[in-house]
Amino acid sequence: MQNKLTSLSTWYQENKRSLPWRADKNPYHVWISEIMLQQTRIEAVIPYYQCFINTLPTIHALANIEEDKLLKLWEGLGYYSRAKNLKKAAQIIESEYQGIFPKNYEEILKLPGIGEYTASAIASICFNQKEVTIDGNVLRVYTRFFNDNRNIDDVKVKKEIRKHLMNLIPNDVGDFNQGMMELGETICLPKGLPKCQECPLNQDCLAYKKNTYQTLPQKKKKIQKKEEEYTILIYQYQNKYSLYQRKEESLLQNLWSFPQLEGNITKKELVSYLEKNRISYSNIEEGINYTHIFTHKKWKMKSYKINLKDINNLSYPFYSKEEIKKHYALASAYKSFLDE
Ligand code: SF4
Repeated sequence: MQNKLTSLSTWYQENKRSLPWRADKNPYHVWISEIMLQQTRIEAVIPYYQCFINTLPTIHALANIEEDKLLKLWEGLGYYSRAKNLKKAAQIIESEYQGIFPKNYEEILKLPGIGEYTASAIASICFNQKEVTIDGNVLRVYTRFFNDNRNIDDVKVKKEIRKHLMNLIPNDVGDFNQGMMELGETICLPKGLPKCQECPLNQDCLAYKKNTYQTLPQKKKKIQKKEEEYTILIYQYQNKYSLYQRKEESLLQNLWSFPQLEGNITKKELVSYLEKNRISYSNIEEGINYTHIFTHKKWKMKSYKINLKDINNLSYPFYSKEEIKKHYALASAYKSFLDE
């Protein structure tokens, strides 16, 4: 059964999708693609990846880019701390490794923003180091193939699966790892959707034989995301809109946003706020509502469009919609308000 699983290396070579970061085994390319793939689907990543590599073709270019330009390249992908960590890691590679990507798993793992999964992917794909990659796709294929109903959110279980896979990985470790991930992404799909008829493992897959694949993998229940409410103020003056750059230590640090107030503010409360702050307006309109989901929290946002008579008591800079789109990295949470 183990040989059958390891035959995934051959299956991968014959069936892999053609993706831009697979054109070579350059660790810079694999690294950028892996970090982007943590954010969104493959199809969505391709244009971001191509633009990123065209603008920053080397580790040196990434280490030296201005932060605003970097955030602009990342705009729309979310989790901007990942982009900032890319730059930090590139600077470390420049200063400590003479600009050459480290080959060793332990050294790769020390770089900012690189966790076990990414480190093992780079080490195995680019340097053929004996490391297994463990992500949701791999765990799904593994638990189904072995009909393993342990809780995969349990760290101990994950460690045991890693150990088992380490014992059976073949010499072409990069292709095996990618084969497991590719099978999970294209055939051994989540919930009730695996395409078992097309699967190269179907003769030996225990979950397929026992018809248990719909119940695997087993996970503990998801934690409810914390909910916060905000009211977004879209101040408009002569076809320009006020923005500010977030300075506080937060997940949106250094990104641009519209001014906002905590809570779900009524129009009457907003009028009092404007009067108290001597903000002179001609008209207030209710705008759209939008909920933005972060990893651990949810922002429920409502908005008001406020047409100003003057901007005397506001310290924010004002920009046209075109200027914002072209030059300022607006946090994804606020995009819908600009588009509106
Ligand atoms: S046979 Fe079905 S359940 Fe088993 S690994 Fe293949 S796709 Fe997944």
